[in-house]
Amino acid sequence: MDAGKTTLSERMLYVSGAVRSLGGVDMGNAHMDDMEIERERGISVRSNSAQLIWGGAAINIIDTPGHMEFCGEVERSLRALDNAVVVISAVEGVQPQTEAIWKALSALKIPAMFYINKTDAAGADVAHALGHIAERLKAAPLLWPLSLTEKVAERLAENDEGLFEDYLKYGLEAFSPREKFIECLKNQYAARLVFPAAAGSALNKNKDDRSVEELLDLISQTGAAAEGDPEGELAGIVYKIEHSKSLGRIAHMRLYSGSAAVRGAIFNDTKKTEEKITQIKKYEGVKLKDSPALRSGEIGIVCGLSGASVGDIYGRGGAFVRQGYRLAAPLISVCAVPADESRYPELVEATSELFAEDPLLNMTWAKEERELVITVTGLIQMEILENIYKKRFGLDVKLCEPSIIYKETIDRSGYGFEAYTMPKPCWAVMKFLMEPLPRGSGHEFVNKTRAEQILERYISQIRQALPEALRQGPKGFEATDIKFTLVDGESHVMHTHPLDFIVATPMAVMNGLAQIGTILLEPILKFSIDIDEAQSGKIIGEILSMRGSFDTPVIKNGRFLIEGLYPLATSLKFPERFAALTSGRARLHSEFYGYEKCPPEVEAFRPYRGISPLDRAKYILHVRHAL
Ligand code: GDP
Repeated sequence: MDAGKTTLSERMLYVSGAVRSLGGVDMGNAHMDDMEIERERGISVRSNSAQLIWGGAAINIIDTPGHMEFCGEVERSLRALDNAVVVISAVEGVQPQTEAIWKALSALKIPAMFYINKTDAAGADVAHALGHIAERLKAAPLLWPLSLTEKVAERLAENDEGLFEDYLKYGLEAFSPREKFIECLKNQYAARLVFPAAAGSALNKNKDDRSVEELLDLISQTGAAAEGDPEGELAGIVYKIEHSKSLGRIAHMRLYSGSAAVRGAIFNDTKKTEEKITQIKKYEGVKLKDSPALRSGEIGIVCGLSGASVGDIYGRGGAFVRQGYRLAAPLISVCAVPADESRYPELVEATSELFAEDPLLNMTWAKEERELVITVTGLIQMEILENIYKKRFGLDVKLCEPSIIYKETIDRSGYGFEAYTMPKPCWAVMKFLMEPLPRGSGHEFVNKTRAEQILERYISQIRQALPEALRQGPKGFEATDIKFTLVDGESHVMHTHPLDFIVATPMAVMNGLAQIGTILLEPILKFSIDIDEAQSGKIIGEILSMRGSFDTPVIKNGRFLIEGLYPLATSLKFPERFAALTSGRARLHSEFYGYEKCPPEVEAFRPYRGISPLDRAKYILHVRHAL
């Protein structure tokens, strides 16, 4: 956060001539901060796109928010990127959220370069920032502009055996002519063996500061571009959804292969539906211009896709699309209540629209109870959402009763059984062996029955029904980290109705969970705190009282650095308390770590939403009716 990503994007647009005036986050007129609330608060909530031309190459920029509560936005943008520019402040160095994003970039093998910003500010120290990058991100950036020094040559040679031999023989000559040097750099950059860097001031750039031009050179000369084949199978990913009064739902799409044309039909492979494109627009600077087609390698906005959600894959070439990476998890559920009760239907509609834009914003609407529950990643997001309801939908909505999203699991093995043979006609008998899996595994399914016992198509129904069946365990939370082995069962040639196993699976699962008994898992956050040594006693006391644990603190120049884990349940309000207890340069960062077993004194229960499979007779009638 605050390293200057938006400021740098603005500067890149300006330097390249894509915009005529320099926008600024502090003046509230940044070209790329388009939501009113972003301008008010001066933080980026949404990722925003633009295009510029440099050295004859078109460069698309996606500016992403830095705050961890919006890392869902970052996570989605990652699927559309070829290169990442990681902005690091020369004053603060690497921030904890940068580490989280760096992990994602490494896992996805996205080539990255650095921009060391704020070299004009008091306390700026580029060498220190580079050292910090090496220490925290385990990456040694190469400062650009690269002249071929012994040091650079050694770094490149280290990564390439052939080159290493040449280098031993011929010295720097091994890299000549310069094209060879650039080519080598480009390859090693694409393979994430080297990470080029530029350093300067995005805000107070003076005419001697060429860092932004250098960065643009770097991107245009060494940047990776997955262009794909425009004639190939269509493969596109929706990385962002917006809504406009005149255009309706707008899908921001990146194509990895093939082409899509206006008025053409396009297949949504995630939802298995076909839709028609009414308009395509591409960025020229920060403006959108109509275009007849979107081609492989490009990003643009596609209109007319009323069923599109973020993360949807279009076309049948899904294998070309970059894999996703989870950075965020919805950990808190809140009730959304309209000031005017009669406006519930509008609220539900507005929320489903928002859900298409943000898949983490899950929603459950219990019609009879008139209760709308949505999931969020943190308390700041609650405030932003209330604002969106008001400004965009004209709805006065109160988000209240934040409660932790627990999960449940089993800590010993057992069986789940169901014989669904009444009321006729139906026949689905099944027995699962249920075993605990390590934390974070989700669920697994293995079939050990013979084809004569249960037909193959019913086995795939069981597999398909499992995720839904696990959504609510006996305590009302999602059941996870369980291996299901189907050890016995029966389908019947005459009596088995096509959907019987879909009906029976939740009953067998619930039967097992209830028999074995479930234990609660709670979300745990990883925190890092940087405070004055004098404040450390107080803060350590706070951490311990929250059931927190931590590594040995590091004390450096009077600063006290401490990292560890604490439960979300006990730390919801901690950021506020932290701000009140500390002063000045104190910093707190926390991010989702994982789910862990709750201590026995923690109890939580959520009434089953809908009709529980434990209530067999009622459940069977209800599901049959619905099917
Ligand atoms: P983001 O959250 O990473 O997008 O950061 P912003 O671009 O919103 O900038 C955060 C703050 O840092 C703003 O107040 C900027 O004016 C300031 N800032 C950005 N770049 C520089 C710079 O090069 N030098 C100085 N001194 N301040 C900067």
